[in-house]
Amino acid sequence: MGVLNRIDLRGSARDPRGLLPRAQLDVSVAVEQIRPIVEAVRAHGFGAIREATHRFDGVTLDQLRVPAEAIAAAERALDPAVRAALTESIARARRVHDDQRRTETVTEVVPGGTVTERWVPVERVGLYVPGGLAMYPSTVVMNVVPAQAAGVRSLVVASPPQRENGGLPDDRVLAACALLGVEEVYAVGGAQAVAMLAYGATTDASGDTRCVPVDMITGPGNVWVTAAKRLLRGVVGIDAEAGPTEIAVLADETADPAHVAADLISQAEHDPLAASVLVTPSLELADAVERELTRQIASAKHSPRITEALSGAQSGVVLVDDLEAGLRVVDAYAAEHLEIQTRDARQWALRVRNAGAIFVGPYAPVSLGDYCAGSNHVLPTGGCARHSSGLSVQSFLRGIHIIEYDEAALRDVARHVVTLAEVEDLPAHGQAVAVRFPDERYR
Ligand code: NAD
Repeated sequence: MGVLNRIDLRGSARDPRGLLPRAQLDVSVAVEQIRPIVEAVRAHGFGAIREATHRFDGVTLDQLRVPAEAIAAAERALDPAVRAALTESIARARRVHDDQRRTETVTEVVPGGTVTERWVPVERVGLYVPGGLAMYPSTVVMNVVPAQAAGVRSLVVASPPQRENGGLPDDRVLAACALLGVEEVYAVGGAQAVAMLAYGATTDASGDTRCVPVDMITGPGNVWVTAAKRLLRGVVGIDAEAGPTEIAVLADETADPAHVAADLISQAEHDPLAASVLVTPSLELADAVERELTRQIASAKHSPRITEALSGAQSGVVLVDDLEAGLRVVDAYAAEHLEIQTRDARQWALRVRNAGAIFVGPYAPVSLGDYCAGSNHVLPTGGCARHSSGLSVQSFLRGIHIIEYDEAALRDVARHVVTLAEVEDLPAHGQAVAVRFPDERYR
């Protein structure tokens, strides 16, 4: 047996849902764990944020807002290679997200009656950038680029304070904020950051400075960040639940086991709760991938958390009869990232119904999408890809209908409005139309 659990669905006609690997610490359990933190931030603001930050990040903060000089200094000190890579990542993401902009539509329903749909950006948005086990300047790019393309006016970034950076977020995260022109940055992570963004809070002991509540929170995070987003949905808008990362690989015997193993490991290194799932009809490939995993983990920098993630209940190899059965499995799983490494990979990819993003063929690994494909890497996890999309310009826009009817157009449809109002036993609705046309008789 290798590091991955093996789930053998060959010869089984059962619905694969319920048989697939899933995390044991799921978001609903974490919601109960972070509820007291969120309540405390709501009631006590700065004091509660400070206490939670001390407890979970090992840092005691006097102020939460990152000074402008610290952001500028981080940008000046940025390593040239990192600057070049971030600049390329931003440029590619801008190309894709600028194409997602929506234009107003005007529909003439009847002569004299139009419905216009205006796309209006959310006013103030809080962008969460993780920073517990790894640092994510790339996530600054993936949050900020679509928000800016949508025209969001007020952007706030929150990211955990780092003990080794004097209680500031990671310097590369700050530099990415500077490159993108984000000025309002808070050194707060976890559920306390989500609560601060949702409810607003004073940001130092004097109470002189304040984070004004946002209208929407986007961005990925660990299970506690995701739980706080779920708990506060409604108080604020959220994009989707973008929790501990997941990769599913649908592969046949043509896949290179070294590539498949490297890709499974690449996502496992995010978090001990990350999920890596191989779905294949090829027992030979499954065995070869296991051998590669053992070989590659031995030299991996983060081998303890990779091993924990790969051997956890959320990861595994799913053996299926053929690729058709594999397709049913990956659709049931609804992975955040799905790689297709098969013959005719594109044809299979086009048939997938449920996935956050699909990576096709041998030269589109998930790591490319994490940084430099141009696509967004903030993607739905935990099966949320069945109903949600990754972050995009659309996430930050609201479609507002503007209804304009002239007298003749309303008169023409009035009898239908009255009839439907009567059917629903809401006669005052009908009367609101009828009153405008006293010369007409409606039944
Ligand atoms: P994080 O910023 O999400 O979490 C760190 C914070 O968690 C800390 O500031 C701390 O306050 C809080 N915390 C730690 N232990 C806690 C506990 N026991 N109870 C309550 N709160 C606690 O950073 P991370 O931990 O490195 O996680 C980043 C996550 O983001 C990973 O799971 C990664 O897979 C995920 N991710 C997802 C996507 C996506 O689009 N789905 C993209 C990038 C990253």
